[in-house]
Amino acid sequence: MKRTLYAKSSNSDLSYDVVFELKNNNLFIRCDCKAGEFGRLCRHIKAFLYGDISILYDERQEKKFFEVCEWIQQTKCQKYLIELDEIKKQIETLKKKEQAAQRALERRIGEGF
Ligand SMILES: [Zn+2]
Repeated sequence: MKRTLYAKSSNSDLSYDVVFELKNNNLFIRCDCKAGEFGRLCRHIKAFLYGDISILYDERQEKKFFEVCEWIQQTKCQKYLIELDEIKKQIETLKKKEQAAQRALERRIGEGF
């Protein structure tokens, strides 16, 4: 099964073709933007992976969009998205810890160690 979704370009009125192909429960994704052609996680693929419907260029593709969302949830792709989200949360926690440690250090500069 193959579905092509049109993604909005951030700097023009054009769209990019993001092709989703489900083969033996494996999901293959390609985007024809510059980053996508290099096999990168471009903003178009990323938006679709996270179910962001605002990236959809043509709202008449809504049905296809939700179909692709189901494919993403069915496949191992979902596991990677969850892992990435968990890492982002850890980074946020570490950033807060870093800021707190820095404030503690700054206080000590004035108060003495
Ligand atoms: Zn792209």
